[in-house]
Amino acid sequence: MTQLSPNFHLSEFVQSQTATRRRIANQPGPKELDALRLLCVKVLEPVRQHFGRPVVISSGYRSPALNRAIGGARNSQHTTGEAADFEIPGASNVEVARWMWAKLNYDQLILEFYTPGQPNSGWVHVSYCQPYRNQELTARRVRKWGRLVTEYVPGIVA
Ligand SMILES: [Zn+2]
Repeated sequence: MTQLSPNFHLSEFVQSQTATRRRIANQPGPKELDALRLLCVKVLEPVRQHFGRPVVISSGYRSPALNRAIGGARNSQHTTGEAADFEIPGASNVEVARWMWAKLNYDQLILEFYTPGQPNSGWVHVSYCQPYRNQELTARRVRKWGRLVTEYVPGIVA
């Protein structure tokens, strides 16, 4: 039982259906725990505070084995405890991302696969480390040469 910050518990950051189903170990070490705590204190707690609703983490820490299993980017900040994907039920993902852009510092903020007009579509990815870059991106699927590919554009665009 590890509390990371007043409103966030480690269990929220390590639960993964893939890890459970495939019995993949997903426990962070001390360094990753410190990174998760910093992410909570610097980013997720202020978001929780401002929106006044629970922040639901869909993917937090990923052990290298879990990250491979789900096809995550090789150097994903999820494997260092620096990143989390989340949503706030009842708040639009684009609104959440725009507020964070205006008010917070982070390493990378990505509005992922949001469809304008569908507040619950997609999710927000955010990472924190020091020094941080304050980089914002929007990820979307676009059709190129007949295939759906992921494209990243600067800013929070929707
Ligand atoms: Zn992510």
